[in-house]
Amino acid sequence: MTAFSSTRVFVACLLPDEAKAQFSERFDARFNAHGRTLTADELVADSAGAEALVVTATDRLDAATIARLPASVRLLATYSVGHEHIDTPAARERGLTVLYTPDVLSDACADTALLLMLGAARRVVESQALVRSGAWTGWTALQLLGRDVHGARLGILGMGRIGRAVAKRARGFDMVVHYHNRSRLSPEHEAGALYHPTLDTLLVESDFLCVACPSSPETRHLIDAARIARLPPGAIIVNIARGEVIDDQALIPALESGRIFAAGLDVFEGEPNIAPAYRTLPNVFSLPHIGSSTLETRVAMARLLAHGITAAFAGEPVPNRLA
Ligand code: NAP
Repeated sequence: MTAFSSTRVFVACLLPDEAKAQFSERFDARFNAHGRTLTADELVADSAGAEALVVTATDRLDAATIARLPASVRLLATYSVGHEHIDTPAARERGLTVLYTPDVLSDACADTALLLMLGAARRVVESQALVRSGAWTGWTALQLLGRDVHGARLGILGMGRIGRAVAKRARGFDMVVHYHNRSRLSPEHEAGALYHPTLDTLLVESDFLCVACPSSPETRHLIDAARIARLPPGAIIVNIARGEVIDDQALIPALESGRIFAAGLDVFEGEPNIAPAYRTLPNVFSLPHIGSSTLETRVAMARLLAHGITAAFAGEPVPNRLA
């Protein structure tokens, strides 16, 4: 039986009922009544009286919005592991506790990364179109030749929680895993993956490049034309992290020319207003940011935040505390 507290929680993001229950069973919880992402003004107004505010990656909590939050708000919880949408120093300065959802979504995202790799390498977009159009005239040895995933070299940019879960799955495909982080992992976390102190040497070894690092000023457009040119001809790029890490103006021509065989993209710069070429290029296998979108993961994310809120207000340690 879940203990109920009178803590007033406003959940500003839209959640499935099973995830909402994680808050309503524990707290005096209110939910977004608009059925869409709130504007900053609505977020501020609807937070009135709340002690904890639950947002997600599409809610921008910049310093100005944080400054306008009602005085009752003492805790900000983001229903995401990415946190570039929150001005964390401003939140800290304001005395807010900030929570996020690491670990619980890594496996779902890594599953999606494998889906992106397989879908891009095996030409799923063209295959689906052929079957659905009725134009398929039967098997030939010529049709829709893809690239092998098994045995290929996988370069992971950002070997964190999600990157390591991708590596674990890739080993099951006999892929040779390389990675680049700013700092090298322990042997236990490396699990045999080959470390590259620089991104440039990683790229040369990457038949597949999986982007799994956070969005930050440092990583914005990190995958630009010069870095794409370092990948082996016919390489495949997948992005499970954030669209901003890839420069679309560099990737799109490389896809058009075939220099890059295909891309698997779950995330896009400026989403949902994505570069139009991504809607039409046959070698782009795209998903609408569903990396962590399973019911089990959605519930686990809500449960983690709910436990964190309970612990924080009880003055206990909170493992998923960002600030
Ligand atoms: P994490 O555990 O913090 O891992 C991030 C990794 O990136 C770390 O290993 C870090 O290592 C590396 N990194 C950070 N900055 C870097 C830089 N400038 N150059 C090279 N490597 C860098 O985070 P996570 O839980 O794996 O999540 C990763 C990202 O995935 C999130 O930030 C989020 O944007 C995205 N995400 C997407 C979805 C989706 O639905 N598609 C869902 C969840 C998360 P060093 O610090 O040593 O460099």
